Formats: sequence, C-alpha cells, structure tokens
Amino acid sequence: MTTRYNITLEQLTQHLATLNEKPFRAKQIWEGLYQQCRPLSEITNVGADLRDHLGDFLPLALSEVVRRDGDHGTTTKWLWQSERDHTQIETVLMRYRDRATVCVSSQAGCAMACSFCATGQAGFERHLDVGEIVEQVVRAQHDSPQRVSNVVFMGMGEPLANLDAVWAATERIHADMGISARHITISTVGIVPGMRKLADLPLPVTLAVSLHAPDDELRDELVPINKRYPIAAVIEAAREYVARKGRRVTFEYACIERVNDQLVRAEALADLLRGFPGGAHVNLIPLNATAGFNGSPAGNLRIQNFANALTDRGVNATVRRNRGTDIDAACGQLRARNA
Ligand code: SAH
Repeated sequence: MTTRYNITLEQLTQHLATLNEKPFRAKQIWEGLYQQCRPLSEITNVGADLRDHLGDFLPLALSEVVRRDGDHGTTTKWLWQSERDHTQIETVLMRYRDRATVCVSSQAGCAMACSFCATGQAGFERHLDVGEIVEQVVRAQHDSPQRVSNVVFMGMGEPLANLDAVWAATERIHADMGISARHITISTVGIVPGMRKLADLPLPVTLAVSLHAPDDELRDELVPINKRYPIAAVIEAAREYVARKGRRVTFEYACIERVNDQLVRAEALADLLRGFPGGAHVNLIPLNATAGFNGSPAGNLRIQNFANALTDRGVNATVRRNRGTDIDAACGQLRARNA
C-alpha cells in the first residue's frame, strides 16, 4: 500500500504492466501528476477507467483539516491529517509578485526542542515519508493561481534528521516538478553530520542555518542541540557547504526582545560571520510568540538597530516581514491552536 505521491515512476510502470497497460501510460500519468501538476481526475489523456483505478490504488496521503487564507488571499495555510495514522502537519503557501513559496513540514513534531518554537514544545511524533512531503508541494500548487517557484523546508520538523526522505522529495520536486535546486531551501538547526551529508549530495540546494545566538551560552538555552553541535562546529560545517556547493548560506535569527537582540550580540554575530566565504546573509525574523515560551518579539526599532550593527560591520542582513501572523502561520501554531 503506497500513496499517490510516494510511488516511484518505476513502481508505477511495473504496476501498469500488471494491468496490461502500454508502457507510455506510466510516463503520461507521471507528467500529468508532476510536470503539469494536475489532480489525477484532470489527467484526461488517460481513460476514465484507469484514472478511477489509480484513484483507489493510489490514495492521497493527506486530508485537509483546516485551510486558512490571510494577507488578503496571498498566504494560505493548511493543517493536514495523515490518512495513515491521523498525525497532523502544516504547510504554508506564500505568494508574492515575483514568486510563490511553499513552506513544507519534514516531520510530524520535532525532537530538537528549541524553546521558542511551537513544534519543539510539542515534541516528536514521526518522520514524514517522501509522498507526504511531495504531496504538500503538489497540493499547494493545485490551489495556487501562480506557479510555485520556491520550496522551503521551514515547516514542522528538522529536515536533516529525516534526510533520506527529504532528499528523495527534493529530487522529485526538482526533477519532476521542475523547481530549480537553488530555489529549494533546507533549513537546519545545525545538525553537523547532516550538513556534511547534504554537502556530498549533488543538487546545489540553498542551506539555511538557524543560529539565533552568537554565543554558546545563550544558544544552549534557545537551541538545546547546541550542546552537541556548538556554534563553532556549525559555522565550520556551513563553510564546508559553501566550499563544496558554491552557494551562499543564510543564517536565521529570531529576534527576542532583550534576550538575543542586544547590540553586543549583534557585534558578536558580526565577529562570528565576518569573512564568511561568499558573504554570510543574516535573516532577522521577529519572534512569533508561542504559548510555551516566555519571550516577546523584539520591537521594530531594536531589530533595525541590530540589522544596522551587522551591516555596518560588513555582514549582510535583512529583516524578514512576517507573513501569515493573522492565520497562525508560524511553525506549529495552527496545530497547537486546533489541539
Ligand atoms: N528545524 C529547522 C526548520 C525549523 S522552522 C530549523 O531549525 O531550521 C524554520 C525557522 O523558523 C527556524 O529558523 C526556526 O528556528 C524558526 N522558528 C521556529 N519557531 C519560531 C518562532 N516562534 N518565531 C520565529 N521563528 C521561529
């Protein structure tokens, strides 16, 4: 028993052979599902009987629990339930004038326990399979008037803790859906062996590293895995990634008022990242307040001062506008609200 976006082209071809279908049928269906990205019922160049059979044989993995539109219809968030075990995951589609980005989950829950993150507060349930990851992108595309151009692994879970499935999904999103590798971003809490493995894999996907503090003392508190992979080791693995892939690395920094947003920390961060190969890029994100964390978003002025301190010291920084705060779009929040 598999699901519609979990089956491989090879398995589909074998299955159709057992039905005495012509070999080119598998290709037609595959192109319909991915390249043209149509719902199965709309792949009308194959007969209705075969479509009906495949509908039963290859069910969807996810059913919609909640769908919310925000930001005047440009942001859509889904809470899905797995048909298999009813575990819940989230996906967000963000449309801009020049691009459309889908933010996908790689795990149900997360074992990394970052203190400010709603998913981390809820704990780990299980890894998602390839089909469950790919289906999030496909179904967002089905509902998007714009072509999905970017995929970011910034939903629930730690992608490098589920790298086999994440990588197989990445290859399909790239090769079959036609999304460019550099427009696929894998965001990690800093699992050093996973970063090394990713550097060995062929596609030049973009790497984002969730730093959130320039010193181990504070990072230990915010991102407990820092005790195993401290800042220096994470930065070194990020350097290796740049050396291997020639891609710029982004560092994410959730700004928490008077916790990690002080000017001395901006200076320490600049010292840490100055001279980073290819030029490090820091993304400053105001914290999304979560129920289990006693901290609030840094104010705009404090974030702007922090950004200026970085740029003054030669480190590129941007302040990311929050999307979807009206629809609980921050990691793990929609699920937490529906629990
Ligand atoms: N496990 C991956 C993906 C996590 S979600 C990682 O750690 O990178 C993507 C980003 O959102 C991470 O940088 C994460 O730290 C950040 N994030 C999680 N909860 C947040 C919150 N409440 N406010 C702001 N950023 C948050």
